[in-house]
Parts: sequence; C-alpha cells; structure tokens
Amino acid sequence: MIDDESVFRSTLRVLLKKRGWRVLEADGGERGLEILQDQHPDVVICDLLMPKGNGYQMIRSIREQRGRLSKTRVIITTSSPYEADRVTALAEGADAYLMKPVVASELLVLLDQWTPPDASDSTETDAPDRPESSTMRVTFWGVRGSVPTPGPDTVRYGGNTSCVEIRVNGEIIVLDAGTGIRPLGAALSTEFNGKPTHVTLLLTHTHWDHIQGFPFFKPAYNPKNTLSVLGYEGARKGLEATLSNQMESPFFPISLPELPGNITIKELKGMSFTIGSVQVTTAYANHPGVCVGYRLTTRHGSVVYMPDNELFMRLKAQQNQGDGEKTSDTQSFAKHQDQKLLDFIRDADVLILDSQYDEAEYKQRVGWGHSCMNDSVALAVAAGVRKFYMFHHDPEHSDARITEFVSQGRKLAGKLGNRTSVDAAAEGCTIELPLPSDAEAS
Ligand SMILES: [Zn+2]
Ligand SMILES: [Zn+2]
Repeated sequence: MIDDESVFRSTLRVLLKKRGWRVLEADGGERGLEILQDQHPDVVICDLLMPKGNGYQMIRSIREQRGRLSKTRVIITTSSPYEADRVTALAEGADAYLMKPVVASELLVLLDQWTPPDASDSTETDAPDRPESSTMRVTFWGVRGSVPTPGPDTVRYGGNTSCVEIRVNGEIIVLDAGTGIRPLGAALSTEFNGKPTHVTLLLTHTHWDHIQGFPFFKPAYNPKNTLSVLGYEGARKGLEATLSNQMESPFFPISLPELPGNITIKELKGMSFTIGSVQVTTAYANHPGVCVGYRLTTRHGSVVYMPDNELFMRLKAQQNQGDGEKTSDTQSFAKHQDQKLLDFIRDADVLILDSQYDEAEYKQRVGWGHSCMNDSVALAVAAGVRKFYMFHHDPEHSDARITEFVSQGRKLAGKLGNRTSVDAAAEGCTIELPLPSDAEAS
C-alpha cells in the first residue's frame, strides 16, 4: 500500500488484515519501489498523486519489469475527479482505478477475484480459477515440421510450423511457438481488441520449428498483457537464454527483454502441474535434446500433444538388426520406453502425434527423432485414443501426399479393429470437446 495519507493506510490496513492479507506500507513512491523489489507483492494499492513518485510512475516501473513483478496487480486510488486520469492510468497498465474514499466492498471484490489470501501454492501458475466453459476447443495454427512451407502445394493442410491453441475454462493455452503463433497472435489481438489478455505458452522443446514464431506473437507487444512461457531447459543453455538468443541483434531487431508484454519464462522441473483448472502432465519424448509432450485434462476430456517423437521399438529394431546378444536387451528397454508412452496417451480424447514419414521414408531416416505414420496409428489404436491427428508434416509432403497418408492410416486403424478416428492436422481446423452432460448438470 503506497499512500502519503497515514489515516487512509491505517483504515485499509485493518480491513485487509482481517481478510488474511499481509500488508506492507510506504508513504511515497521511492520507498514503495524498494518494497516492491524486495517483497514482490501480489497486489499494489497506490495513490495517484503523492510526493516522491506518482501513481503513473509506479505503474510504469512495475510494468517495465519482467520476472516476479509481472503478475503484480495495480490498483490506483485517487481523489482526482477527471475521467482523463482514469483513462491514462488504465492505459498505462493499472488493473483497477478506485475513487477515494474507497468503498471497502468494491476493493474486496477485486482482491477476492485475483489472489485469495488462502490460495494454495501447489499450482505452477497463480491464475485465478475461472468458471467452467461449455467446451474445450483445440485449434491448429501450425502443423508442419522442420521449416515453414508456404505455396500452392500446402494450401489444404498449411505451411506454418507447430502451434496449437487450447481454449478451456477461461484459459488460453498455446502449445509451441512455431510460425503458426503469428496468425494466432493476430487473431487474439483482434478478439481482445486491446483488453488485457493472459496467455500461457507451453514449449515442447526449442528447435526452430517450435520457437521461431515467438518474436512475431502480437500479444507480447501489448504492455497490458501477461504471457507465461513454460518449458524444460533448452538444449545446453537454459530456456530463457535459448529464447533470447534467437532475438539477439544479428538475428532480430528487438531483444526479448525489450518486448513490452509482461513475459515470465519458467523452466519446469516436475512432470505435472496445473494451469487454472487444467491439469497438465508431461512425458519425455524420444527426440534429440530435451523434448516433452503435454497431456491437458479437464472434465471435458484429455488432449495429448507430442509433436516430435520417434518410437523406440522401431528405432532400436532398425539399428540393431543382426546384432544378436545386444538386441534382446535393447529390445526390452525399447519396449519399456514405448510402454511408458502408451500409458501417457492412454484413452486420450485427442492425440496430436508426430507422423512425419511413411514406411519407405522412415527406413532412410532412422534416428532422426521422428516417427513412421504407421507406428503412430498403431500406437493410437493400442492406447484406445478417440481422435488421432497426424502432426509435424514433412516439408516435402504436398497436400495430396498427406491425404494419401490419411487414407492409409484409416485403413490400418480399420484393420486393427478399433474405433480410433484418423485424420491429419490442418491449419485452421478446430476440435470441440463438450462437457459431459452429467458434469454440466452437477
Ligand atoms: Zn519439430
Ligand atoms: Zn524437434
């Protein structure tokens, strides 16, 4: 609480402490900033006009800081009767603007919405729980592997690299930041039209085709927005270093810290966490470097996204042909690895999985970290997946070729006698998972 009027502070202090908040106080901007640096509060309640640093300056310095202050909420309190001051404060990035004398109930409603004092810290993100949405919506924005491939041969499935959007229970979750994230960013900017937006970006790994669109993600340029980037370490360097390296001056005109959006980058350690009410589990993929797949679960169902993966059994079988003794050990290890993957995707409603090659191509590309389409289909069927989507299409594959993959895949799934539906991910395509009717009624 930053305010030069001690009476105002003591009234609020009593009110907030009763509600379980820990209150830190400053009588001016300078001291306020020191407290901010040291304590990283969840909420700042700040007077607009006071000595040694006014409210605008406070908002600006909070919004300029990435890292732990990026989620700090700012409430400006004021006795200024001018509409222009309210407009400016909100434009600068204040979350709320309250007239003095502050009505206690208004303030408490805001605070309860944001960070209840008894909020558990077991979740990775401290986003508030939002109401359950009627559907979980999955949209493909980029489906290509390796490198973008625009042109007349890739119109149907699309030429942008990996990016999938999940909308559920008020969360905007983006899986990977290949070039598909650029049109997604443009669509979000149009939809929210300048209103503050929070996006969670989950990265599977830091190969180009999964991060290269990030510098072109429009919401990262709006200072009112917050963006949490979560992923595992980049190969050799930390995640943040890897992401900023691709924006260094020889490669890009704006550096990562210069992006005006409030970006936090967090390296994940554990294999399960939550984003609001979405349960997320992860599994390591068999792919060069550190690469994972994500499984997102709500009451609507489960979506698994594993864009880059080579199935172990096939890899080892090809590599060890004719190598007697070693073969049986490696085979059983490989079987165990694939079994773990099978458990990870079991009964998923939607599985988005690497299916880059056909049989003939795979034989030429063993050990490249990508799968043969037939193996992916068989795995999906064995795991009882409901809807399977081939993903990470090879840059050499035209629309016609991918359509052939789909018909081959469907034949195979039919032979394997399971009801898994088979399709190829296509840019712009959306899948809706509705809330089950019993869940809706409860
Ligand atoms: Zn890839
Ligand atoms: Zn990769």
